[in-house]
Amino acid sequence: MQLIIHRGTKEIGGSCVELATGSTRILIDMGMPLVDEKGERFDSKVVENKSIPELIASRILPAIKGLYQGEEKGFDAVLLSHAHLDHYGLLRFINPAIPVFMSSGSTKLIEISSQFINTKLELQNVTVFEQFKPLVIGELMVTPFLVDHSAFDAAAFLVEGNGKRLFYSGDFRGHGRKGVLFERFLAHPPSNIDCLLMEGSMLGRAKGQYEDEKAVEVNLTRFFKEKDNIAFVFCSSQNIDRLVSIYRAAKHASSTLVIDLYTAYILDRLHTEHSRLPQYDWPNMRVKHFMAHRDTLERSNNKHLLDKYSKTAIKIEEINLNRKHMVMLMRDNSIFRACLRK
Ligand SMILES: [Zn+2]
Repeated sequence: MQLIIHRGTKEIGGSCVELATGSTRILIDMGMPLVDEKGERFDSKVVENKSIPELIASRILPAIKGLYQGEEKGFDAVLLSHAHLDHYGLLRFINPAIPVFMSSGSTKLIEISSQFINTKLELQNVTVFEQFKPLVIGELMVTPFLVDHSAFDAAAFLVEGNGKRLFYSGDFRGHGRKGVLFERFLAHPPSNIDCLLMEGSMLGRAKGQYEDEKAVEVNLTRFFKEKDNIAFVFCSSQNIDRLVSIYRAAKHASSTLVIDLYTAYILDRLHTEHSRLPQYDWPNMRVKHFMAHRDTLERSNNKHLLDKYSKTAIKIEEINLNRKHMVMLMRDNSIFRACLRK
């Protein structure tokens, strides 16, 4: 088995790894870099309005023959570990004839990002894999391993072929709500691995305030109980573990968690993956409708969902009347600033 790391050895994210045997060629992840060549934050807009040869010349796309649109297909599959842009953000440039394999949760999150944050990626030729179920791709056998990560339904991969076994960790952690996966993995790791490719997104940091996601929930509960005004919590709506912590803390503190339509939609789409994810119509949960999200749902043929989510809609007036018992999920954007003015 031949291994080529096209990007990811000297940086966090931007991951792109090729594996090949005599007759089979696969790529794992097609990440957008987090930093540019000068070490500055990578501006995702630089890929817009540029041709593939231009992007290769400026070393934004790795020079990989047979991968991109407009040339002869030279890969049997692209595998995505999880739905974070530093692992899939350059996928839109690949030849659509190449099958793309990813988990069901990743597929949904990537579709939602394309609708709401305009990643310009139209998923095509996708095969959804089942975690822990081996896939045969030509001469290679790939087994996805569900891992604990802030991206929902993230996977590591065991790749076997030509008598060799390689393990690609993808991003992982042990302190989330699925930390047990990491413990189980440590107790029963795949045996006889010839090569380990491991992400090092956090190879060490000072001891933080909170040991794990459970501690975050406990402290949020205490904070929500003690507060005497509305609490705004800044969090990505795709960080499902954190959403669960915030919801549980709000509920324990007899407060109402107010989410937006974007968050309600994400939780709704992922409900079939995990029936215990809090939903828009669960107790202590209400939905604030903002125009931008309404427009996006309408544009993406989901107008019917507006009626569905209206059942638990909440208006600014009601939030203002019950501030002490309100927790509002937010991001630092123009919607938040407009909300503060009201
Ligand atoms: Zn990640």
